[in-house]
Amino acid sequence: MALKKRVPMLEQSPEERIKNFSEVALGYTEELALLEANRCLQCPTHPCISGCPVEINIPAFIKAICEKDYKKGIEILKDTNNLPAICGRVCPQEKQCEAQCVLGKVKGNDSVAIGRLERFLADLDLSLEISKHRSDTENTGKVAVIGAGPAGLTVAADLARMGYEVTIFEAFHRAGGVLIYGIPEFRLPKDIVEKEVNYVISLGVKIEYNQVIGRTIPFRKIRQDFDAVFIGIGAGAPRFMGIPGSNLNNIYSASEFLTRVNLLKANEFPKYDTPVRIANRVVVIGAGNVSMDAARTARRLGAEEVLVIYRRSEAEMPARLEEYHHALQEGIIFHWLTQPVEYIGDINNNVKAMKCIKMKLGVPDESGRRRPIPIDGSEFIVETSLVIEAIGQKANSVLRTGFPGLKLNKWGYIEADPETGATNLEGVFAGGDIVTGAATVIEAMGAGKRAARAIDSYIRSLKRA
Ligand SMILES: Cc1cc2nc3c(=O)[nH]c(=O)nc-3n(C[C@H](O)[C@H](O)[C@H](O)COP(=O)(O)OP(=O)(O)OC[C@H]3O[C@@H](n4cnc5c(N)ncnc54)[C@H](O)[C@@H]3O)c2cc1C
Ligand code: SF4
Repeated sequence: MALKKRVPMLEQSPEERIKNFSEVALGYTEELALLEANRCLQCPTHPCISGCPVEINIPAFIKAICEKDYKKGIEILKDTNNLPAICGRVCPQEKQCEAQCVLGKVKGNDSVAIGRLERFLADLDLSLEISKHRSDTENTGKVAVIGAGPAGLTVAADLARMGYEVTIFEAFHRAGGVLIYGIPEFRLPKDIVEKEVNYVISLGVKIEYNQVIGRTIPFRKIRQDFDAVFIGIGAGAPRFMGIPGSNLNNIYSASEFLTRVNLLKANEFPKYDTPVRIANRVVVIGAGNVSMDAARTARRLGAEEVLVIYRRSEAEMPARLEEYHHALQEGIIFHWLTQPVEYIGDINNNVKAMKCIKMKLGVPDESGRRRPIPIDGSEFIVETSLVIEAIGQKANSVLRTGFPGLKLNKWGYIEADPETGATNLEGVFAGGDIVTGAATVIEAMGAGKRAARAIDSYIRSLKRA
């Protein structure tokens, strides 16, 4: 009889992992993967597929695992997903495919662990290099992709597989976007990202690093030199609360804090040139994935006490449940319904404390979540010498100055057709966080897939004209 509960994944113990940056979740062995795969009911209506933004044929790859035909399973995965080892680790499956799983709707049963099974196959592929690098060279045309995050990598890989000549221009010296500079090693090892980027390169995609389009190369030149352009530059500019005292020392944005550690290896200072400040008590503001990553990174850097402060309650927390549980296991302390209102500095202008106020929840706001309302007279002081603000990112201002003629909305994001990614400029498409605002890896990849289809139609129409 099939198991009711999902097969647990092996992981490092909390006591061990707070002392290192190695991956926390260790994946399924073949034996565990087979046990889990056999829980799938192979539903003819397969609702799980509708929960996946890139429409992976989930029952088919799970069936292939059950039959131990791993090569077939990998081919099914890679038909629609060029970055499965990444998605198997960081996708919010519990809100997507697994939320639709029929098994999970039966009382007392867990949904099938689709993400873990995806990771099992993808890791097997990376270690054995099973998947073939394919390119049907039937199309001709040159496409420029700006930004090597999940959106850009997906457009590039799909178009290369259709036979287009694709060049990615990336501002940093490494490809992957947030996967490289934002998400920490203990959740997504950088060698996994590198291997999947290499897979994209093996399809024929070229990457030009250290090129900030709109600065080092004018956008006008890119438009002239290519038949079509895809903009996938993400939304990496930090946002701050802007409360009094924000200019004190030792108040980081989560983007800066995480980039210093992930991309610039500040955790290995002085071996690497980038330092990062760490304190005995660190306060992280916000309760999304970025906040969990910052809090858990601070803990690994040696902070004895890490507090997460969030203005709503646990129920409204946007972080993935698994990451929240990992944070709790690692001793992170959560203060719900609390809002910082002022930073307090010492004589050297270093932050030494923050004034906070307690909140209660009112009626739902435009995000659908209950609006937090301050409780008069409930102010209190939290002492800290390092604060990390993780309250969201915004669009980079390079768009306003470096991409003339491109239509942006009032928040500075690109206006693009949600189905095709087409912008107001002919032959220019866009997708990922720079269109939607901060979202997820798989949503950025979904936008990349839709744009690749639209770019293919556009270039074909140019040839017919
Ligand atoms: C810390 C953190 C943790 C997260 N955790 C998760 C998670 O667990 N699960 C999940 O699904 N999502 C997570 N997200 C969100 C997810 O990473 C993003 O939604 C996704 O990366 C967006 O992809 P993108 O391709 O649109 O942009 P990005 O990943 O931001 O990539 C954009 C790329 O464009 C480059 N670029 C920018 N400007 C230029 C320019 N002018 N010229 C050339 N290149 C340029 C950047 O250097 C970058 O490489 C997290 C985000 C953060 C910050
Ligand atoms: S809904 Fe769940 S049980 Fe049904 S096919 Fe999809 S993964 Fe299998």
